[in-house]
Amino acid sequence: MSIQSTYREIRKAVPADVDILLACKTRTPDEVLAAIDAGARDLGHNYVQEAESMAAALGERSGAVRWHMIGPLQKNKINKALRLFDVIQTVHSFKQAQEIQKRAEAIGKHLKVYIEVNIAEESAKSGVPPEQEILEKLAREISGLRNLRLEGLMTMGPFYEDPEAIRPYFRKTRQIFDHIRSLKVPGLDLTVLSMGMSDSYRVAIEEGSTMIRLGTIVFGPRRA
Ligand SMILES: *Cc1c(COP(=O)(O)O)cnc(C)c1O
Repeated sequence: MSIQSTYREIRKAVPADVDILLACKTRTPDEVLAAIDAGARDLGHNYVQEAESMAAALGERSGAVRWHMIGPLQKNKINKALRLFDVIQTVHSFKQAQEIQKRAEAIGKHLKVYIEVNIAEESAKSGVPPEQEILEKLAREISGLRNLRLEGLMTMGPFYEDPEAIRPYFRKTRQIFDHIRSLKVPGLDLTVLSMGMSDSYRVAIEEGSTMIRLGTIVFGPRRA
């Protein structure tokens, strides 16, 4: 099946209130354009450089989509990232959020951020440990930053062949999300729960995901 019809099939099968973000790593501009033609509106990139090349190749059509940073953001890349991204999904500390705030303020930019939760506490993955007090504190702190709007939580989750094995981690992330929402922090409107990939998106949706991040299932196997 073509990228267009695959995207449309998945879009039809997924509940309308769940957003589909396309993870674009290793994909060509033509492949990404095919998905945009089929209705894709959210693009995710793992590296600033990759997103820059993609934006240049898409030209004016890059304005038709929202740009999400879904990989770790290094301090020395923040300025470049701010020029490009609408959303940074991988904020992991107040210090980092302050760095983003400082630079965003300098150029008069407002952007959305999500906190990345390292839900299985894997040493190889970034993100905040899944402890309610830590996340609650961070959410309150970020809510006070004027150019940032904290809008969601994001998690990768551990990798298992069997997506059922990931379910408890998705469930736990949803519980943390609901808890923070229940605090009714002034100025904080947490609405997005970004979790679930090609192998696990069905389970993630059952556990309350509002945004799935798909690569392989739409574009085919990744090129090295
Ligand atoms: C690559 C990637 C995805 C999508 O992975 P697939 O298994 O190809 O669907 C989702 N989220 C992040 C952060 C990624 O890097």
